[in-house]
Amino acid sequence: MIKKIIIIGGGPAGLFLCEQLLNKGYEVHLYEKMPAVGKKFLVAGYGGLNLTHSEDIDSFSNRYSNPQFFKKIISNYTHDDFRQWCLKLGVETFVGTSGRVFPKKMKAAQMIISWKEKLKSSSRFKLHTHCQLIDFDDKKVFIKKENEEIIQEDYSILVLSLGGASWSKTGSDGKWSQIFQKKGIEVSPFRAMNSGFEVNWSSHYKSKFDISPLKNITISFKDLITKSEAMITQYGIEGGGIYALSSDIEDEIYSKGKAKITIDLLPQFSLENIKELLCNKPNKISMSNYLRKKFKLGKEKLNLINECISKEEYSHNLAFSLKNIPIILTSTRPIDEAISTKGGVSFTELEEDLSLKKYSNIYCIGEMVDWHAPTGGYLIQGCISMAKWVCESIIQR
Ligand SMILES: Cc1cc2nc3c(=O)[nH]c(=O)nc-3n(C[C@H](O)[C@H](O)[C@H](O)COP(=O)(O)OP(=O)(O)OC[C@H]3O[C@@H](n4cnc5c(N)ncnc54)[C@H](O)[C@@H]3O)c2cc1C
Repeated sequence: MIKKIIIIGGGPAGLFLCEQLLNKGYEVHLYEKMPAVGKKFLVAGYGGLNLTHSEDIDSFSNRYSNPQFFKKIISNYTHDDFRQWCLKLGVETFVGTSGRVFPKKMKAAQMIISWKEKLKSSSRFKLHTHCQLIDFDDKKVFIKKENEEIIQEDYSILVLSLGGASWSKTGSDGKWSQIFQKKGIEVSPFRAMNSGFEVNWSSHYKSKFDISPLKNITISFKDLITKSEAMITQYGIEGGGIYALSSDIEDEIYSKGKAKITIDLLPQFSLENIKELLCNKPNKISMSNYLRKKFKLGKEKLNLINECISKEEYSHNLAFSLKNIPIILTSTRPIDEAISTKGGVSFTELEEDLSLKKYSNIYCIGEMVDWHAPTGGYLIQGCISMAKWVCESIIQR
């Protein structure tokens, strides 16, 4: 008979699991090292909280680094299930033009308040903040409190939802990996995912570039193409289109030291079409003026052309170059700035139900496990579906 369940880590994965277990009648203790839960979720809300995505299960699952496993858990608890759950929490959602799902009105901060209120309404729920996990064995957890006192707590089931290793000021610093390593549990090193990249822009370009986004472009890396937008920054490039390719780009930089992407500034025109239009340029008008007028290329795109295309290419191969602007990415931005991280507890250390092979009564969920996905709501949905999966495993025990 399971009496007390301890969950450590109060991000979306841990919070969602608390509520699911309370609904089933368990006594749940949530430990969190920060003064409050859900800090990364709050940060995610700054730029428009993207809770999940509306695409079908097959396409959805293929966004994950481990699609077979995620197909199972997302089918078990889908984006529609999660939207229904949000509605019960008082959070109406809508599907944006990109298929992403956002809250209609409620901000992340209000959502966390409602979430916490729901948990606190149960007498079987206890929240312990300022409590950091420093060790565990098969029966006890060792917790450091704010006053440095170390306490031991017994558990019958322990669920760890300690997050990844970016935005450390939210508490998700990945330092828990040292506890695992001491126990011989493999944790793949953390690396930046959904992050910006550095580019050695010339100082001339940096002094004049415009930080307006490059819209209506496609970005290619090897055989991957994304139709999106990107933002040129002083240090390099970032934005939705870049994040979508960031896992493969990061792999290339990790193994080869750099990666080349190409940008098509005119995806709506065929190469032949551009060649023809360029041939028709009247002599009296300069090429950059013609590009601006005929192809509606703004200052930000014209400056990028001048930065990335040699004079020779500009004179002899411009049509091709406009569809293939080469940019060399030299490194990822620091991991702490990344939206999420690759790495974490290796799937080889976990059973199918996400319990640890070495400790059958300990589960790991959320971003602390070694999986990754692009932005677009896949991260939060992944964490929620993992929590639901573990809840069902606990019930079956
Ligand atoms: C800027 C930004 C924007 C984002 N936007 C989106 C988005 O729009 N959509 C989306 O799907 N995802 C988004 N994400 C990602 C999403 O927020 C995370 O994937 C998600 O929060 C991970 O949930 P989690 O519960 O696994 O871990 P976290 O939310 O990281 O929570 C882990 C918790 O564990 C606690 N903890 C860690 N170590 C210990 C310890 N030793 N003892 C006790 N507690 C500990 C931490 O303090 C933290 O509260 C965004 C992230 C960022 C940074």
